This record gives sequence, C-alpha cells and structure tokens, in this order.
Amino acid sequence: MKSEQIKANITALENQIRAIAQSVNRDPNEILIIAVSKTHPIEAVQYAYQAGITIFGENRVQELVAKASQLPQAQWHLIGHLQTNKVKQVLPYVKLVHSLDSLRLAETISKHSLALNKITECLVQVNISYEEQKSGIAPEKAEDLLKSIENLPNLKVIGLMGIATHTEDSEKIRQEFRLLKQLFEKFQRVYTNSSAIQMQHLSMGMSHDFAIAIQEGATMLRIGSAIFGPRS
Ligand SMILES: *Cc1c(COP(=O)(O)O)cnc(C)c1O
Repeated sequence: MKSEQIKANITALENQIRAIAQSVNRDPNEILIIAVSKTHPIEAVQYAYQAGITIFGENRVQELVAKASQLPQAQWHLIGHLQTNKVKQVLPYVKLVHSLDSLRLAETISKHSLALNKITECLVQVNISYEEQKSGIAPEKAEDLLKSIENLPNLKVIGLMGIATHTEDSEKIRQEFRLLKQLFEKFQRVYTNSSAIQMQHLSMGMSHDFAIAIQEGATMLRIGSAIFGPRS
C-alpha cells in the first residue's frame, strides 16, 4: 500500500478513536494504537512511522526481530503466541509481550530477563471467547496465574489482553470485553501495592471491533487491516 493511503488510514482511524472516546467521556490520549504490521513489508511500517505511529505489533518472533532491527526507534510489541524456545531471541527487541498465558512461559521470560538484566513487561492474555483454538488462559484461572507470577524476578505484568470472538454479533463481543474489564478491575483491587503486578492496560479491540473496545475501556487497540489494508 502506498504511503499516502497508509497516512490517510491513520488519520481516519485517529479521528474515529477521538470521536468514540469523547462519546463515552473518555480521554482519547489514554488510548494507544498498536499498529499490527504482520505480513506487511518494512516499507509499510516506515510509512506508518512517518505518519506518527510509534508502536508496532507482530505475532511472530522472527518477523518482529527482523523488523525491529530495521526500525529500532519504534516500540515493538509481541501480540501472538510465544513459544518458550523463542523467548531468549525476542526479549532484546520487545517492549511488551501481550500473550503471557502460562506459568511456564512466565518462568522462562523471568529467567532470560534476569540474565539480560532487564525487566520485561507483559500482559496476561485471557481466553475471553472460550474458543478452544485460541490461546490465552481461561478467565477462571487468571487469578491463580497472577499469584504464581508475582514472585518471579524481572517480570512485570501491566495489564490484560483479550481477543473477542470473530462475529457480527456486537453484543457478544461487548460481553466478552466486559468480562475482561471486570477481571482487570478485580485485579486492580487485589494488587494495589504490588511492584510486579500493576493493572494499567487493557489490550482489546481490532480493526472490526475497536469501537466496542473503546466503549468498554480499552487502553491499547491492536489495529492491522484498518491501517495497512488486507493481508494476503
Ligand atoms: C492480526 C491481529 C490483530 C489485528 O487484526 P486486524 O483485524 O487486521 O486489525 C490484532 N490482534 C492480534 C492478536 C492479531 O493476531
């Protein structure tokens, strides 16, 4: 996609986000766009960066590392499933992992972060759609996971991430986002004084459902096709 088209998409998206946020009395500045650049070439990423996007999301480690090496001045977030054997490779490049969903993964991130002398920020991914094929921890198990994570060194949980069911049924999507928001608020109350767990961010909403996500409290939107066009 051409530079002008990407720029126009970003402007339109920012205008929509501002309007929706204001319609529910939210400050648009507390809503971050994560531009999901998976499958798109580095040129497209550079166009978006020139148009003011500073955070990019990738769902595969190799693609993230390749692009982050070429645009290290941007922030890079991993939004897809992370295998433990890829943790070491991605940690030097990743600002935020959206897909922490098991104790084993948390322990691996903690161990390698310690070795690198860095603190890795993560979101716990919750399977709010209850679809078998989706990753994420079951909503009922999220609290236990947080409890076991709290004492791991060099790992900090700064919020939750969820992917709603892909459906035209906006009420179903809304219910799933509400479930994530309820867990978020509960954990905010449980962990008021923890340094390892600080509930600040709710990553929810993609190109087709970000309006609902803003209405339900999202602070990070993961937007791909509405910025870069369809993926081949
Ligand atoms: C691809 C992807 C997105 C972006 O999807 P669009 O529909 O293109 O906006 C968001 N979140 C995750 C986890 C993804 O894999």
